[in-house]
Amino acid sequence: MATDLIWQSATALSALLEKGEVTSRDLTEAFIARAQAVEPSVHAYLDLHTDYALEQADQADQRRQLGQVRGPLDGIPVSLKNVISIKDLPLTAASKMLEPFVSPYDATTTLKLKNAGAVLLGRLNMDEFAMGSSCENSAFGPTFNPWDTERIPGGSSGGSAACVAAGETPLSLGSDTGGSIRQPASLCGIVGMKPTYGLVSRYGLAAFASSLDQIGPMAHTVEDAALLLQTIAGYDPLDSTSFNTSIPDYRAALQEAPKKWRLGVPTEFFGEGLDPEVKEAVQRAIQWYEAQGCEIVEISLPHNELSVPVYYVLAPAEASSNLARYDGVRYGHRSSEAKDAIDLYFKSRGEGFGPEVKRRILLGTYVLSSGYYDAYYLRAQKVRTLIRNDYLKAFEQVDAILTPTSPTAAFKLGEKKDDPLSMYLADIYTISVNLAGLPGLSMPCGFTQDKLPIGLQVIGQPFKESELFQIAHAYEQAHDWKTTHPNL
Ligand code: GLN
Repeated sequence: MATDLIWQSATALSALLEKGEVTSRDLTEAFIARAQAVEPSVHAYLDLHTDYALEQADQADQRRQLGQVRGPLDGIPVSLKNVISIKDLPLTAASKMLEPFVSPYDATTTLKLKNAGAVLLGRLNMDEFAMGSSCENSAFGPTFNPWDTERIPGGSSGGSAACVAAGETPLSLGSDTGGSIRQPASLCGIVGMKPTYGLVSRYGLAAFASSLDQIGPMAHTVEDAALLLQTIAGYDPLDSTSFNTSIPDYRAALQEAPKKWRLGVPTEFFGEGLDPEVKEAVQRAIQWYEAQGCEIVEISLPHNELSVPVYYVLAPAEASSNLARYDGVRYGHRSSEAKDAIDLYFKSRGEGFGPEVKRRILLGTYVLSSGYYDAYYLRAQKVRTLIRNDYLKAFEQVDAILTPTSPTAAFKLGEKKDDPLSMYLADIYTISVNLAGLPGLSMPCGFTQDKLPIGLQVIGQPFKESELFQIAHAYEQAHDWKTTHPNL
């Protein structure tokens, strides 16, 4: 019974709850048992709050008995990346710098999940402050890929992806600044979606690069991702970059018949550096769309090759400013060795931050410093506009764009850890989507010969999440990649 439950979609579990075939307590216990069984080999969680979760499950069951069900997520277990605040629970962003910190309030996304009746199980591992592509930058040890535990799960939302892929929760939230939802989703064989910038509130999300960060859903199916996005999307006056737009019914849109979409394939995304097995799987997916009557249009995104250098100017610049708040005085780690106030800043930050975070702060401070600002920061902003314009031009011809999510399947732990440049290139297909503020989704499209998942990225037009989900759902319905699970 329990093994039947852990691989079900949230939508299917919700139907079981509705029919009275299971209770939220049954579900929550099944997922906790699964987590306890596989965590020693996966390490997706930083903190699993079993009593807290069971209490919420019992409340959901009570509501159901009283006929006060709050919607399809009521009673469904969900876990969150440890960068999204839950009131009264510790928030670390996988950093020693924040270790003693307890959130005084809920993030807006957390509050929306609570209001929807979701059962929050705990918080997931990640690269420190969401900086990384492998989860190896966590101060609390890496997460392992459920498909091959000698390999990385991707990052920075590696814990969120591994948690869903290992059957530890049907849904999780991640955050994506340059690919952190889509790349680990791809490497762990699940669906991961970064919404249009401004669709989901960032209030209560520990900031990395504020002009790029978005929270988004991770799930087994496109429909589940749509359900989770439905719950967390919407205008929030507490986030000044939140966009005031009406939120369509994403799941209802999935009931519409598939259309003959015009789909762009950027030549620049299929060149050097792309693993042949990944290329073949993605091309097969593109051919499938063509066979359904979609028009495949070759397009060009000429500035994409500049997206990694542009990102590594802008994201560190914003990070150096955002992370200035960790001064050892107001919250988080405080050095016990300091002689005076300045020494306290230096020592607290020196002891609290890990090497990748320090590298980003140094880079960011450098590109913002007087004399270098125009040459680096301002220039990068201009190229960012060119990157966005490439996409907007492409969207005059096409409805959406198909690309690989990651140039390779999951790599081995340690393989790129000491080579930042090759690690940074893991996001070559995802970063420009953040720079342009667009929605992007990764879904499984095959396996390598070593049985490692491969992801297809679908990039959509701003605020056209419904269409993005429809395009992805059509492919997913015709393929059964999601019926294979890792052998743990
Ligand atoms: N891997 C990229 C980085 O290290 C993106 C991270 C993210 O999206 N949070 O910055």
